Amino acid sequence: MDFFKETDVVVIGGGIVGTAILRELSKYDLRCLLVEKEPDVAVGTTKANSAICHAGFDAPTGTWKQKTNVRGNALYHQLQEELGLDIKWTGSLVVATNDEEVQHLQVLLDRGRANGVPGLEILSREEVLAKEPNLVTAKAALWAPTAGVMWPFGCAVAFAQCAVQNGAQVICDCAVTGFVKEDGAVTLVNTTKGAIRTKLVINAAGVYAEEIAKLAGDDSFTITPRKGEYILFDKMTASSLVYGAIFPCPNEKSKGIMICTTTHGNTFIGPNANEQASKEDTSVTPDGMNEVIAGARKLIPNLPMGASITEFAGLRAVSSTGDFILGASGVPGFINAAGIQSPGLAAAPAIAEVVVEAVGNEMYLRKKTGWNGKLPKKPAFNRMTASEKQKMIEKNRLYGRVICRCETVTEGEIIEAIRQPVGARTVDGVKRRTRAGMGRCQGGFCGPRVTQILARELGIPVEKVLKERQGSELFYKKFEE
Ligand SMILES: Cc1cc2nc3c(=O)[nH]c(=O)nc-3n(C[C@H](O)[C@H](O)[C@H](O)COP(=O)(O)OP(=O)(O)OC[C@H]3O[C@@H](n4cnc5c(N)ncnc54)[C@H](O)[C@@H]3O)c2cc1C
Repeated sequence: MDFFKETDVVVIGGGIVGTAILRELSKYDLRCLLVEKEPDVAVGTTKANSAICHAGFDAPTGTWKQKTNVRGNALYHQLQEELGLDIKWTGSLVVATNDEEVQHLQVLLDRGRANGVPGLEILSREEVLAKEPNLVTAKAALWAPTAGVMWPFGCAVAFAQCAVQNGAQVICDCAVTGFVKEDGAVTLVNTTKGAIRTKLVINAAGVYAEEIAKLAGDDSFTITPRKGEYILFDKMTASSLVYGAIFPCPNEKSKGIMICTTTHGNTFIGPNANEQASKEDTSVTPDGMNEVIAGARKLIPNLPMGASITEFAGLRAVSSTGDFILGASGVPGFINAAGIQSPGLAAAPAIAEVVVEAVGNEMYLRKKTGWNGKLPKKPAFNRMTASEKQKMIEKNRLYGRVICRCETVTEGEIIEAIRQPVGARTVDGVKRRTRAGMGRCQGGFCGPRVTQILARELGIPVEKVLKERQGSELFYKKFEE
């Protein structure tokens, strides 16, 4: 039969889960590749979420969510240094604003201790205000010191880069369309780029994991998208609103509408939680915005709404089982990492361990000699000291040319982001790797300049440069002329 690649393991989906699995697989003497239907990795749910590295007190004890969250959080504490991940260990607070909620904090504390989360304690109103002076509604709060805020796209890109540096492959613009089985086992993956012969397939397709599983003959679960909408504030005006991750007391659907800092000092409010039929619709709605504002005002009534710079939404992949679906399916040669809703970011490195253990049950795994788990350190220009900046510019004058004024991102960094392994191919890919376009003007100034740099570096005309997905070209020929 015709095929364009032959490999041992195919990972479907380039989100945080698929890339973490690819990295874990790359530790072994295996041929492995990841296919992603979009032009870049980290463009699904991984790009639109609260970005909290949860401590692990929320999930019911004994579930995959709980086990992989607590282990994943501990792994990120190690991986941060090895992969240069952008994570701020801010800790998190669950805030009680009435007596009933104060009682619920004890439930969360007991569960957290049973889950093995270190350092949890209930803080009095005075102790909460000492940490977060704007939390005037607080009566008490649960403090989780091991929680943090992370840069999720950076983590996914780093996982992918680490895998590639150890021999794995990432193929973007490559959608899986079906499977061929021999003797009941999946042996061939059909994609929009051709067929891939393989011994094993791992389904990490996010909200589409149900469709991928059904194509392979596994109809044991469904995935319902549950939208969460956000409002992001400018860091110049709102950076001191809160210093960490502030949750209300959770409800049965979600952890509630929070107020949170980000790795780069912005603040956001959100998300709400509304189920919908579409797996594509990530639009924000007036009702959603009002819901988010009303929810956040329960924590801090006086929000700086004039400092809002953008809104966005992400889709949780809610599984019919209520838990992550990890490991062997009923179909030989087909493994699931499905239904990965929150705390999927925090859990991803541990999910990868569980999945690769399942791979080990299906094929012999031998550790690779010379596996390199470290990525070269690349501090962002805007976080350098004046003398470090000067040295950088002396080495490469393109570091002296600022392209994104809001975030002080230079041409040197943008070119590096395009040329690196698993490099940026789109304007939003540059944004996620460098922050060009993430500031107050949201790319109004630097967008066209980033487009020009991409066109030059990729050797394509400006009108072929994509903002994000196929069909998102930004310019018409007539403009260039
Ligand atoms: C509102 C919200 C808030 C959240 N907050 C947090 C949080 O604070 N902390 C936390 O830990 N988690 C959080 N999460 C959960 C977390 O974001 C997800 O668990 C995680 O991003 C899921 O990653 P993934 O790789 O499974 O999915 P995705 O990132 O969606 O990746 C799946 C990939 O598969 C690709 N794909 C789909 N179909 C195909 C196909 N046919 N062929 C090839 N590729 C395909 C998609 O394009 C996509 O890139 C939140 C989620 C939401 C929506």
